[in-house]
Amino acid sequence: MLHRTIHLFRKELRLHDNPVLLAALESSAALYPVYILDRAFLTSSMHIGALRWHFLLQSLEDLHKNLCQLGSCLLVIQGEYETVLRDHIQKWNITQVTLSAEMEPFYKEMEASIQRLGAELGFEVLSLVGHSLYDTQRILDLNGGSPPLTYKRFLHILSLLGDPEVPVRNLTAEDFQRCRAPDPDLAECYRVPLPVDLKISPESLSPWRGGETEGLQRLEQHLTDQGWVTSFTKPRTIPNSLLPSTTGLSPYFSMGCLSVRTFFYRLSNIYAQAKHHSLPPVSLQGQLLWREFFYTVASATPNFTQMAGNPICLQICWYKDAERLHKWKTAQTGFPWIDAIMTQLRQEGWIHHLARHAVACFLTRGHLWISWEEGMKVFEELLLDADYSINAGNWMWLSASAFFHQYTRIFCPVHFGKRTDPQGNYIRKYLPILKNFPSKYIYEPWTASEDEQKQAGCIIGQDYPFPMVNHKEASDHNLQLMKQVREEQHRTAQLTRDDADDPMEIKVKLDRSEENISKRKVARMTE
Ligand code: FAD
Repeated sequence: MLHRTIHLFRKELRLHDNPVLLAALESSAALYPVYILDRAFLTSSMHIGALRWHFLLQSLEDLHKNLCQLGSCLLVIQGEYETVLRDHIQKWNITQVTLSAEMEPFYKEMEASIQRLGAELGFEVLSLVGHSLYDTQRILDLNGGSPPLTYKRFLHILSLLGDPEVPVRNLTAEDFQRCRAPDPDLAECYRVPLPVDLKISPESLSPWRGGETEGLQRLEQHLTDQGWVTSFTKPRTIPNSLLPSTTGLSPYFSMGCLSVRTFFYRLSNIYAQAKHHSLPPVSLQGQLLWREFFYTVASATPNFTQMAGNPICLQICWYKDAERLHKWKTAQTGFPWIDAIMTQLRQEGWIHHLARHAVACFLTRGHLWISWEEGMKVFEELLLDADYSINAGNWMWLSASAFFHQYTRIFCPVHFGKRTDPQGNYIRKYLPILKNFPSKYIYEPWTASEDEQKQAGCIIGQDYPFPMVNHKEASDHNLQLMKQVREEQHRTAQLTRDDADDPMEIKVKLDRSEENISKRKVARMTE
C-alpha cells in the first residue's frame, strides 16, 4: 500500500542526498513537503538569533523554489509542531510521517513525541540519518557502547567501520510525478514568511545567503581549485583575511542545505586523482571528521552542553561577571583584535576557526575566567553555523575543560593577529574608529601618544576603550588557577587526552589504518 505522507523538513533543507525524502517519495501516493515553523521551539531550544532567522528563511525560500521546479512545493506551517501535525494528519488523511533523524536531545524528543502521536492517530514514522557521515550509534557500538573520546581513537574506530554511506541519488521530476503534490492553493496559503512577518529586521548584512542552491555553488567553486583542496592544511589558513581562507561552508552544513556525505565523497574523488594530499586532522576531510567526532561524543555524553553533570568536563569555579561578559560580547574589550572578531561575528554570523580560538580563550581560561557556557550561548545566538555538538565541543576544547590539554598556551590578544595581518586591515574593516592609526599601533592603540591619537581621530578611553585587563597579569593568574584545577581533577582531564589531538599545533603521523580512511578507493557517487 502506498502512503499519504507528510515529509517533515527539520534540518535537511535540501533535495540532494536526502535519503529519507527519497524513501518518502518511493513509498507514497501523495506527498506533502512541510516545514513547521514553531517559533517557540526554535527560540527556546535553538536560541536562534536574527542572522540565523534570515538564513533559515532564505533556505526555506530556496527549498520551495527547488521543489516547485520538480512539480511540488514547500508548505511552511506556523505553530506549535504537535498541534500542527495533529491538525494536518487528520485533514490530509496522512498515513506516514518521514523526517531525518537528528541527535540533539530536543530533536530526539520531538521525534519521540511524533512517534507517540503516530501510535495514537495511526500513522507510521520513518526517520533516517542524513546529517552526519555515519550513524553515530554504529560508532558507539563498535567502541563498546561508549563514545571514543579522542580523535585518534575515533579515527581508529572509523577505520574498522569503513567508508561512510555514499550519497543517495539526486531527486528528479519523475520522482515527484509519481506522488500527488499538494494543491497549488495550499502553497499560497502556507508560503515562506518574510522577515517582517516574524518581526525580524528586514535587512541582513551577512554575506552568507541561505539555501541549497547557494551552498552548492560555493561548494563547486571550492572544488574547482583542486590544488587548494589537496593541499588544504587547516593551521596554515588565515584567521583575519578579508574573505574566508577556509571553505565557509559551515552555515550550509549546519542547516543541512549541503550534505556532508556529498562533500566527503567529492573530496575523496579529488584526492584519488592527486599524487599527494593532506590528511586528517588538518585536511578538509579531516575537518568533516572533527565534526563527526563531536557529533559522536555529544550523542552519548550526558549534559554535553553544560559543565554540571557532564562527565568529561572539568568542573571549574568560573567567575560570574555580567559586566565583563557584556564587554566581550559587544566588542568593548579594548583589544582591537578581539573586538574586531566579535564585530565580524555580530555583523556577519561567521568567523574563522582561529578567530574563534582567540575570543574563546580570551573569555575563558585566558583572560576573563568566565564560563565557556556563557560564550557558547553567545555563539549560539550569533553564529550562522551554530551547532549543538560542535559548538559545545569546541568551547570545552578552548577553555581546556575537555579535549585540549596544552593549557599553558594562552593566546596573546596583541600578537596573535599580527602574525598574519601586520597592517591590521581586518581591524580597520571591522573597527573603522581605529582605521587611521599607523600599523604599529593598530593592535595596541593605547600605546600611541596623545598627539598620535588625536591625529588618528580616536582618543583611547573616550572613542575606544582602554584594554579591560592587563594581558600578562590576567593570563599568568588564570594559568595558575587552571594548573590547580587540572591537578585536582587529573582523572577527568585524562579522559579526553591524546597528545595527537590538536590540529592547530601538531602534525600528526597517522598510522596505516587511519591513513586508509582517506586513501581507500572511493565508491562511485550515484548521480
Ligand atoms: P572548514 O575549515 O572549511 O571545514 C569544513 C567543515 O568542517 C566546516 O564547515 C565544519 O562543518 C567542519 N569543521 C571544521 N572545523 C571543525 C571543528 N573544529 N569542529 C567540528 N567541525 C569542524 N563549527 C560549527 O559548525 N558550528 C559551531 O557552532 C561551531 N562553534 C565553534 C565554537 C568555537 C569556540 C570554536 C573554536 C569552533 C567552533 N566551530 C563551530 C568549529 C569551526 O570553527 C567551524 O566549523 C569552522 O570555522 C567553519 O568554517 P568553515 O566552514 O570554513 O570550515
